[in-house]
Amino acid sequence: MENSPANNFLEAIIAEDLASGRVQEVVTRFPPEPNGYLHIGHAKSISVNFGLAERFGGRCNLRFDDTNPEKESQEYIESIQEDVRWLGYQWDGEVRYASSYFQQLYDWAVYLVEQGDAYVCDLDAQQAREYRGTLTEPGRNSPYRDRGIAENLDLLHRMKTGEFGEGAKVLRAKIDMASPNMNMRDPILYRIRKAAHHQTGTEWVIYPTYDFAHGQEDAIEGITHSICTLEFEDHRPLYDWLIEHLPVGSRPRQYEFGRLNTSYTVTSKRKLKQLVDEGVVTGWDDPRMPTVSGMRRRGFTAQAIRRFCNMIGTTRSDGVVDVAMLEHAIRDDLNENAIRGMCVLKPLKLVLTDYPEDQVEALSAPAHPGRAELGTRTLPFTRELYIDVEDFREEANKKYKRLVLGKRVRLRNAYVIEADEVVKDDSGAVIEVRAHTVADTLGRDPDDGIKPKGVIHWVSAQKGVQATIRLYDRLFHHEAPDKADEHFLDLVNPESLQVVEGAWIEPALAAADREQNFQFEREGYFVADRFDHSSDAPVFNRTIGLRDTWNNAF
Ligand code: ATP
Ligand code: MG
Repeated sequence: MENSPANNFLEAIIAEDLASGRVQEVVTRFPPEPNGYLHIGHAKSISVNFGLAERFGGRCNLRFDDTNPEKESQEYIESIQEDVRWLGYQWDGEVRYASSYFQQLYDWAVYLVEQGDAYVCDLDAQQAREYRGTLTEPGRNSPYRDRGIAENLDLLHRMKTGEFGEGAKVLRAKIDMASPNMNMRDPILYRIRKAAHHQTGTEWVIYPTYDFAHGQEDAIEGITHSICTLEFEDHRPLYDWLIEHLPVGSRPRQYEFGRLNTSYTVTSKRKLKQLVDEGVVTGWDDPRMPTVSGMRRRGFTAQAIRRFCNMIGTTRSDGVVDVAMLEHAIRDDLNENAIRGMCVLKPLKLVLTDYPEDQVEALSAPAHPGRAELGTRTLPFTRELYIDVEDFREEANKKYKRLVLGKRVRLRNAYVIEADEVVKDDSGAVIEVRAHTVADTLGRDPDDGIKPKGVIHWVSAQKGVQATIRLYDRLFHHEAPDKADEHFLDLVNPESLQVVEGAWIEPALAAADREQNFQFEREGYFVADRFDHSSDAPVFNRTIGLRDTWNNAF
């Protein structure tokens, strides 16, 4: 490890800490608050924390930072564990909970009071704001700041036993009301919250703040590198102050990196919850959501998400990554790994008049054009087929490389055909194309030298299977939906979902496993829906098109 170059500043710090002996082993943690599903930004944090532990032969904990009972729930706790595992990581030992350290944290609060480093303050929220000062003006000491230790101990104990109402009192650290860092102006350590907690029930009516909890939890778990996002940079002096003033027995250090934001996306959990609650999407795992479970259901692979997280790097600045880079990573992975198949989205009947009515030919096609080791698939070929409406015109100019009346085209993995006539309905719309096969063109050009101009996909009308196809696109049509003048809910792309009933798929696709990825040739990448797909009623979700149609960055 010492010999390989660091890929980012965190790796450099850790390599140095190991070399100097500051730490013997690397221990990191991923600390989600269970108040929503994980999203692409969390995937980045997961890949950083688990990735560093992996790279340096250390350990990474999964710790629920559950200090805020009102917004948290068991559903989130379960989904988060599932998502971390799906991304391909395993935490060290059991899942941990901040709430299982509540007694220890309380004992340390008592310790701070005994040392004269914390006090119970009766200012209400409004008064506390006034006393706090501003960025340009120092704060003023609370009139309760000089309470004696015995009185503080008594009041803290009574806060804990539920004697006071919410907001009546808080416990604050006694640091410096004139500090230029607002976080050091006697920050709150404990609040009264008469809310039941999903892990501890009604045992506690006071809850530690993030600042009081986080570093101490890190210390309890022996975390060596506590990695978080840049908004916590100004909290680091408080993190250090608490570690130094408490007998915690270990010395974690906090490091910050820039949050991942992607264009065309919102990642605030509050906003994602709003999309769910208002029914804009079908749930946290709607394939349009930037949640891990949404991306999974969309057909993104864990490997592609991990690669994307590595590719964008880990730096000390916040920035917006073009979502096309994520899509590019997905496309790359699927192009390499997804089995090919044929699906006709807008079917038009094609009848091969020279082909015997009851004949079924089992044609063979590669599962993947570049990877022979993936084997072949069997395509039943019959007299009646479906092709896509878009792939036929009665007349067309030379640029149109599909089927035209009187012209030839190759049916992918099958014969060259020539279109002879059309059947129309009363409104004049073409409802059937009648054609004939050109002899001896399986895998070879026609003997008469008249080559087809293009290749189109098809499915046997007799042997194919009907399927529901959900065509997903980006959820927002605005590049920065949460920074626009309009409300983000007004920027939802009305075409982010189109459902196609009655598409035709080759029969092998109906037998797909749920969550199996495919390239539907000439159409894009699709996945068998994780919940709704079955061989009797196949359902596929479009993961991404074959090419980026939003811009031409790649
Ligand atoms: P949100 O703002 O979406 O509610 P959060 O930061 O409150 O996110 P947490 O559950 O506290 O969510 O996050 C768990 C960990 O994931 C934290 O260490 C946090 O810094 C990190 N994290 C959250 N969002 C991002 C992001 N966009 N990029 C990188 N890391 C992130
Ligand atoms: Mg947070």
